Amino acid sequence: MKFNELQLIEPIIKAITELKYEEPSKIQEKTIPLLLEGHDVLGCAQTGSGKTAAFALPILQKLVKGNKGEVRALVMAPTRELAIQICDNFNAYAKYLDLQAGAIFGGVSQEEQVDMLKEGVDVLVATPGRLLDLMHQRHVKLDQVEILVLDEADQMLDMGFIKDIRTIATTVPEQCQKVMFSATMPKPIERLSDTILRNPETVKQDVVTNAVDTVKQCVYYVDDENKLNLLTSLIKSEEVKNAIVFTNTKHGAEKVSKHLLKVAVRARAIHGDKNQNSRQDALLQLKKGKVKVLVATDIAARGIDISKLSHVFNYDIPDSPEVYIHRIGRTGRAGEEGRAINLCCIDEVDHFAAIERHIRKRIMVLKSEWPMINLTKTEKPKRKKKQETPKGEIDVKKVKDISLSGKPVNKKSKYRYGSNSSGKAAGKKKFNGGGKKRVRWSDK
Ligand code: AMP
Repeated sequence: MKFNELQLIEPIIKAITELKYEEPSKIQEKTIPLLLEGHDVLGCAQTGSGKTAAFALPILQKLVKGNKGEVRALVMAPTRELAIQICDNFNAYAKYLDLQAGAIFGGVSQEEQVDMLKEGVDVLVATPGRLLDLMHQRHVKLDQVEILVLDEADQMLDMGFIKDIRTIATTVPEQCQKVMFSATMPKPIERLSDTILRNPETVKQDVVTNAVDTVKQCVYYVDDENKLNLLTSLIKSEEVKNAIVFTNTKHGAEKVSKHLLKVAVRARAIHGDKNQNSRQDALLQLKKGKVKVLVATDIAARGIDISKLSHVFNYDIPDSPEVYIHRIGRTGRAGEEGRAINLCCIDEVDHFAAIERHIRKRIMVLKSEWPMINLTKTEKPKRKKKQETPKGEIDVKKVKDISLSGKPVNKKSKYRYGSNSSGKAAGKKKFNGGGKKRVRWSDK
């Protein structure tokens, strides 16, 4: 199918052609006509599927007619990075339209965001906390909103935004068209959609096979203390053009990025303790190729889109398969091949096995110059004599048994989304669409 078969208007086609979008992705093919027809939509898709354009293109087309400079489309996103990215996408798609998107998000001064709202925007992309804040201060009015989008709804729920979302959804006009996208569809999301959407059309993309099919995955079973060395040698290989290295903790992200810098790998860390300026700058540096590696926690990296990212490394194996799928979805975007390399130590073997079960795939095991942890030691201990694990060796079976008995397998803290930073001071961000547009968000 071609974009012009989707009844999109010429200025939009022109903008996406310049972005080298040749044909619509599956989710776009299904979603665009439904939104143009005015249906509420419940979409099951993750970042990398092209879901932003799936809602942004029809929204822009709908806003072409009518008043300008009033918030007529509101997009809710869980994180600042995602809000900024969605806003940039809108402005790139609106390059040949007289429409403007702006983003508001917490962690930075509200001054410039308030100025931007006073100047007027047609599409407002917002994180829930800052939006409510500015609504209470009467800087934002939602009485003209015609379309509401809740993007990454599952993440918003995970981050505790459910009440805020409900408040916002009841503040917009009742007849407003509503769209909800979520990477997963757990019960609370279904309940939220039941209360917010009216007779929604459902569009689905097979979340699991998507990332799993386009990304080549492998795993090194390695002792924790050898992970840094192994990671360094892998990253220094020519094959790695640019990468995100995921860690489960902020401390881990700092440790890994410092080590990489020490061994002359251009690396930056992004996590919840970094201010907005630093996070945004690191992202830009990676996009420009000035930084080779971003070391990130999940909250900082969620939703970010860096096209042509060659590798994702899981320095720490995530506790949840869903998080794993999100992480590896950062590479292999829009049909390109990517690689996900996992470094799994003994404490993480159970989590990794759960991931393999979830994606119904055995991930290729690779050996490195550092010793592989012993995964084959599965024989049962003799009854009478308690079998000891030889010194220096790690007994995976034993660890698994512990987990089966219900006790935690590892002593590390469970995976959590990081806390918000209280960043300040940042430079201005250019629009994707080039010089024509005014700066719509800033992080002063
Ligand atoms: P998203 O899932 O919205 O984050 O999009 C993932 C990436 O795919 C972004 O870099 C988009 O610019 C890109 N993209 C979206 N739609 C298309 C398309 N139809 N053709 C090529 N690239 C696309």
